[in-house]
Amino acid sequence: MHAKQTGSHFRVGLTGGIGSGKSTVAAAFAALGITVVDADIVARAVVAPGSDALAQISAFFGPQVLSADGQLDRARLREIVFADTDAKSWLNQLLHPRIRQHMLAQLDSAISPYSVLVAPLLLENQLNLLVDIVLVVDVSPETQLSRTMQRDQNSAELVQSIMAAQCSRAERLAAAHYVIDNEAPPAMLAGEVAKLHRIFLQLAEEKLAKSLT
Ligand code: ADP
Repeated sequence: MHAKQTGSHFRVGLTGGIGSGKSTVAAAFAALGITVVDADIVARAVVAPGSDALAQISAFFGPQVLSADGQLDRARLREIVFADTDAKSWLNQLLHPRIRQHMLAQLDSAISPYSVLVAPLLLENQLNLLVDIVLVVDVSPETQLSRTMQRDQNSAELVQSIMAAQCSRAERLAAAHYVIDNEAPPAMLAGEVAKLHRIFLQLAEEKLAKSLT
């Protein structure tokens, strides 16, 4: 395990490719009383109407990035920064520290003995640096494709393009401290998660004890 500056509270990073079963696994941890922080929700919250980040973004890009109801038009903003690397790095410098700060605040205010950060792009966005261990939900690319197509009613082409933009199965597995194989029916997950829960409780206790010495 890597030594990281993660405070005394134990943090688990949960990731996996699209359709691997992250949300399903996260729900199983939540059912055990564990605080789950969703990186996508935090990323939207930091640009909510009234936030200083949204005020800075609309001052920088103009009202064209706001929808009629004052929300950030994320698709429009994506289009603009796609073609402008300076604007993209300005935006990242604005948002990334805020997103991290919000995530850490939520993770460490958890009452549960450890907390889980669920992030599709945990490795791609280097959020693994914020957690003590990485838990990967793993299925074959074929299973990812068929489960995502069924869930989202999307074409194979669209799902494949999203998969291609994410890191590979091998890269993800290389970064994993623990792996949940999610090829089996969902009924098998509860037992797997319960087993990991016991391990994480132990690791959380050890980390807390170490921080107190
Ligand atoms: P992710 O959050 O990684 O994109 P989800 O948890 O949404 O993935 O799972 C993708 C889809 O596959 C969902 O419709 C979910 O209900 C289904 N699913 C998850 N685990 C299993 C499983 N073990 N067997 C069959 N379907 C599953």
